[in-house]
Amino acid sequence: MPHFEGDIDKAAMEESSSPQSSSSVVHDLEPGPAASCPPALTAHGLPNLNEMFDNDDGQFEFGELTEEEIQAATSVPEFAQSVNIPPPSAIHSSGQHTTPELMEIFYQRLFPFKDLFQWLNHFPSPTPSFTNREIAFTLQNDVYLRYQSFPTYDAMKKEVIRLNPSRFEVGPVYSANPRDRKIVRKAAFRPLEKELVFDIDMTDYDEIRTCCSGTKVCSKCWNFITVAIKVLDVALRDDFGFKHILWVFSGRRGAHAWVCDRRARELDDAKRRAVASYLEIVKGGAQTTKKVNLKRPLHPLVTRSLNILRDSFSSAILVDQDPWRAPEQEDKLLKLLPDKVLNQELKKTWEALPDQSSTSKWAYIDSLAKQGVSKSLDAKELMEGKQDVVLEYLYPRLDAEVSKHLNHLLKSPFCIHPGTGRVCVPINSARPETFDPMDVPTVSQLIDEIDEYDATHKANESSEKLADYEKTSLKPYVEYFHRFVSDLMKEELKEKRHRDQENGESLNF
Ligand SMILES: [Zn+2]
Repeated sequence: MPHFEGDIDKAAMEESSSPQSSSSVVHDLEPGPAASCPPALTAHGLPNLNEMFDNDDGQFEFGELTEEEIQAATSVPEFAQSVNIPPPSAIHSSGQHTTPELMEIFYQRLFPFKDLFQWLNHFPSPTPSFTNREIAFTLQNDVYLRYQSFPTYDAMKKEVIRLNPSRFEVGPVYSANPRDRKIVRKAAFRPLEKELVFDIDMTDYDEIRTCCSGTKVCSKCWNFITVAIKVLDVALRDDFGFKHILWVFSGRRGAHAWVCDRRARELDDAKRRAVASYLEIVKGGAQTTKKVNLKRPLHPLVTRSLNILRDSFSSAILVDQDPWRAPEQEDKLLKLLPDKVLNQELKKTWEALPDQSSTSKWAYIDSLAKQGVSKSLDAKELMEGKQDVVLEYLYPRLDAEVSKHLNHLLKSPFCIHPGTGRVCVPINSARPETFDPMDVPTVSQLIDEIDEYDATHKANESSEKLADYEKTSLKPYVEYFHRFVSDLMKEELKEKRHRDQENGESLNF
């Protein structure tokens, strides 16, 4: 048996220098490099889904468990209840986003370890999906520990509390235990599966958002993320048939998607690249004048996305961002429109009427076009140019590199963002517009909430004992995650039964 418990192994400690995927690891702390230009989109033809997902064989053998047993295992989230720790108020220093002391209490009392385990494991009892899964810790002193793995969620929880990391990342399931990677043959240690992930970060919108810059986010620019979730979520569901998509707030200015369906987890790098390329429409960095170049007629993905984006364009872009109000900003819009004569007339009109809003400037495009100011104007070309503007300003900007590699590590849900103290909570993809990053609780707020609850409920000791998360505003997020995990596990069980049945039938034959 591999050595699970005990200290961090020295070798792992030595490997704590910058990891291969360092750009993603620090992505949320520092503005990363602009997303690199991906290979050309495959003419935006429909992906060959059969080809992309032709291997659907089970990788792991699970023990026999009934649906009732799964129900029982998942019905009551288990949280730290028995740890003897000082009252949070004793060490809570306000004014700081987070401290190691607050983090420790958070891990002890609030972090949903059991749900996290079941999410990664897809089954109530440990399987290689969890035991061979890489977890990477960033310690409080910024030491980075890769290739950690755990036999049970309890072992993981103990180690997380002991190490008290500032955050941790989830990596792939390997063909052997990550801790044994140095003693198994090189060929025997390879990544087998991991959720397909997407990263939407405000950094990629910095050149178009006008309300905030840098690490700041407000409800106006959060609209970029809301719209991105709507567009990508429906594409992943309708075009690829994925059902188990978990959206998670990155803690400050972005969101991650974890596609957890088995078919998604088993995609190799080439297939991940194909999915990312299929979804990527806005390409090029700040230096690229026109980032949307599409063939017509539009692919159904683009048509559907445009329908979603049109609803938000007026309010989220024209009103909230008002990106072309200043004369020096007008060129950004004109560069994306096809007719030179019309552009000159627009410029003249706007000069004569200074300080027009972007809403009014946008409306002038059609009204001048209808007046026939340009004899050369091609109405269809203009309409397509305007569609490209909508896409350029509002279509999701993916950090595609994150999606392309099976062995990419991504910050775990429910970690605390060190810069904000906010919890990386799930976002309900059915109603992303109701999510406000400013409402997400911080670790210090949550610990205050436990204090307040305990102080007001002391007298009433006969009442049912609640888990600590239930005393706080983290409750709806934990419950959402719990339901998500339960649905995923039910599906896994169903699939497994199906596979077993087929295997049984082929044996009988
Ligand atoms: Zn803003």
